[in-house]
Formats: sequence, structure tokens, C-alpha cells
Amino acid sequence: MKGKKRVFSGTRATGGLHLGNYLGAVNGYLELAANPEYETIYMVMDLHAITTPFDQKKLAKNTKEVIIDYLACGLDPEKSIITAQSLVPEHTYLQNILSTEITVARMQHLPTFKDKVKQYPKAVTMALLNYPVLMAADILLYKASLVPVGIDQEPHLEIAREIARKMNEKYGTNFPEPKRFVTKGEYVPSLSGEGKMSKSVEGSYINLVDDLDTIKKRLAAAPTDGGKGDKVPSEGGVANLLAFVELFEGEEKRKKYEKDYLGEGIRYGDLKTELAEAIYEELKPIQERRKVFENDPSLVDRMIKEGAQKAGKIAKETIREVKEKMGLI
Ligand code: ADP
Repeated sequence: MKGKKRVFSGTRATGGLHLGNYLGAVNGYLELAANPEYETIYMVMDLHAITTPFDQKKLAKNTKEVIIDYLACGLDPEKSIITAQSLVPEHTYLQNILSTEITVARMQHLPTFKDKVKQYPKAVTMALLNYPVLMAADILLYKASLVPVGIDQEPHLEIAREIARKMNEKYGTNFPEPKRFVTKGEYVPSLSGEGKMSKSVEGSYINLVDDLDTIKKRLAAAPTDGGKGDKVPSEGGVANLLAFVELFEGEEKRKKYEKDYLGEGIRYGDLKTELAEAIYEELKPIQERRKVFENDPSLVDRMIKEGAQKAGKIAKETIREVKEKMGLI
């Protein structure tokens, strides 16, 4: 694997994946895993999942659920290193080191931090403040230069680049400044018409495991309007539905609906039924593959362990280098 550029990414262990994770992140994971120029490392971020309130009885199960989703989407442990973050303790070791290179004020001003404070005002912990430093450690530990993540993660990547620059200047390390790998679904909107699709916002998402009926129900709850007007809405429920139409039924279909909106009007019932079917068509093969892995938990456990061993080798080498450059014994 020498000489290959590295790719790192991960998804928090907050349960199964939704369409935002799939289009914004996992599609990028798949594209890069198929490219022989890259060595790809994809993890389930269980240490990131504990930075906001969580249920310890569900955490390990949620972690495995995401691994199963990865495999069902087509990630292959023969091609990518796939494992859980907490199995490679060097992530937190490097996090501690990297946190010496960034100020508390810089972290407090991040829009992502402010959003989480609003969401969990009673759980503003040090772990939450340190979330982006852990993410920087995840990426720099593997000297990854490319990170397939949604646009919401850009402020965190900026932190990772800043820290890499500072470490390189101060200690002569050779961390690449990681760039985001952009996918077509870099921003999947919420079904509710406000903000992005997110696991932590009820009514905002469609899960990869949802059947046709569930998808229809979730879409039925998405807000609409009278169906016609002299300007196609650029934000809110209708704008988001049209974004989904483009993602799952193509640009032409979206244009047709836009024309309808300006003309005789859109019948949202029909739009939603058609859209639900298009989404389900894409999810059906994923759900079928998923069953194979659900029925073989020992296979999944073995994959996670093997992935952790492979990742651990790279991680240990980086820590060795960093310690030496920083004068740590
Ligand atoms: P969530 O916000 O649902 O908790 P995570 O924070 O675990 O999801 O994000 C995992 C990956 O999925 C990240 O790369 C993130 O950028 C991407 N992602 C999450 N939500 C969206 C979305 N609505 N649109 C595009 N990408 C998204």
C-alpha cells in the first residue's frame, strides 16, 4: 500500500444510516474505495457518539448497525479498512496531543459547537468542545489527504488543516492538510423543510432500512403548499422535496415539476408516491444485502477486529513519529 494517498471518513454510532449519510458520505466512500490510487479507511465513530447524551445499552449495537449498513451499501473489507474508532486507542492519544495546538476560544466559536449547545444545553461537556480535535486526530493519525464528508463538516476540516499546519511548522511532522471529497449529495435537506437531514431531528430523515410504506409515511408528513405560484420556492418543504426529486429521479423530472408549479400546479400526493417509489428502488438492493450480514454477526465481529488490527499498525507508526518529534519519551 506504500505510496498510495489515504482517505479517512466515518459516521457516528447513533443508529442506522439515513439518506443524508448515504448520499453525502457513503457514496463518496464507495467511489474512493473503487479507485486504486487510494487506500481507504472507514470507521464507525463510537467515541464521537459519546460526546452527546447516549444510551450505553445501545451503543455497541448501534456501532455494529452502522458497520452492517456500510457493508450493505457495498463497502468491502478486502478493499477498505473498516472498523470501530474505539478499537484503535491511538485516536484519543493523538487527540490529546493535537489539543495543545488549538485554543478554547477557537473551538467555542465554531458554528457546529454552537448548534450542539442549543440542542443539548444541559450537556455541554469538554468532550463536546473537543469533538473537532478528535476528528482532526482521526484524519491525521492516518495522514489522510482526502475526507469524504458532507458540507456540514467543512468547519471541522478547517480545524484539522489548521492543526496539521501548526504541527508541521512547530515539530516538523508531515501531516497532509486534508481536503473534503465532494459528492452530489453533500447537503441532503431535512424532510421537515428546515435545515439538514439529521438522525437527531425527528421527522427529518429516511433511514436506509425503511420499507416502502415507512418512506411513504415519512414523505407524507413533509410540508408543502398550494402547489402553484409565480415563483418556485427556493427554501422550505417544497424546495426540499424538489431537491429529493432531483437526487432520486433526475434533473429532468425536477424541471418538469418546476414547470408544473408555474403552470397548472403540482399534485403533491402523486409527487410523493412517485418519489417514495424511486427512493425505495435505490434502497431495496441495499436492504437485501443487509440481511446477509444481519444473519452472520460473527462475520461482522471478525471484520471489525481485523480492521482494527490493520488500522492500529498505521496508527502506532504515526504516534511513534509524533512522539519522537515532540520529545516525548
Ligand atoms: P448525523 O448528522 O445524522 O448525526 P453524522 O454527524 O454521523 O450524521 O454524519 C456522518 C456523515 O454523514 C458525515 O460525513 C456527514 O457530513 C454526513 N451527513 C450527515 N447528514 C448529512 C446531510 N443531511 N447531507 C449530507 N451529508 C450528511
